[in-house]
Amino acid sequence: MAKRKIVQYGDDTLRRVCRPVETITPSILTLLDDMAETMHAADGVGLAAPQVGVLRRIAIVEVEQGQLIELINPKIIARAGEQEGSEGCLSLPNQYGMVKRPMHVTVRATDRHGKEFEMSGSELLARAFCHEIDHLDGKLFVDFAEYMEEVE
Ligand code: ZN
Repeated sequence: MAKRKIVQYGDDTLRRVCRPVETITPSILTLLDDMAETMHAADGVGLAAPQVGVLRRIAIVEVEQGQLIELINPKIIARAGEQEGSEGCLSLPNQYGMVKRPMHVTVRATDRHGKEFEMSGSELLARAFCHEIDHLDGKLFVDFAEYMEEVE
């Protein structure tokens, strides 16, 4: 595993639409491992492939320590309710914004073994799913934030 450099806000890479993964190759598995290491080192709860410069539909989420969720070609297939809360991003260090998200979402994705699965999440997990999947379409939370603040 290797830590990768996190692409920072302002880089055009973060605005591109990512391509789906068609075959889970060894390099995709290495990417997943590297993303986990990179996210852990940065103390984040989610990371999307474009944030390490790879324009593929891959994201990871870990809102509870030790419960890493790997998402290949994820799609939100259901959403319900609403929550408003402070959100941040490893591509915008120290920047936070108030963002409205669904309270509950269900995601359909493929795992590293090529198996499709569905997972539902609420609160922070729902927020993380939305945030990371947005990255795969070149969308950033600053696009929806009601206001931004800088916290050191
Ligand atoms: Zn982000």
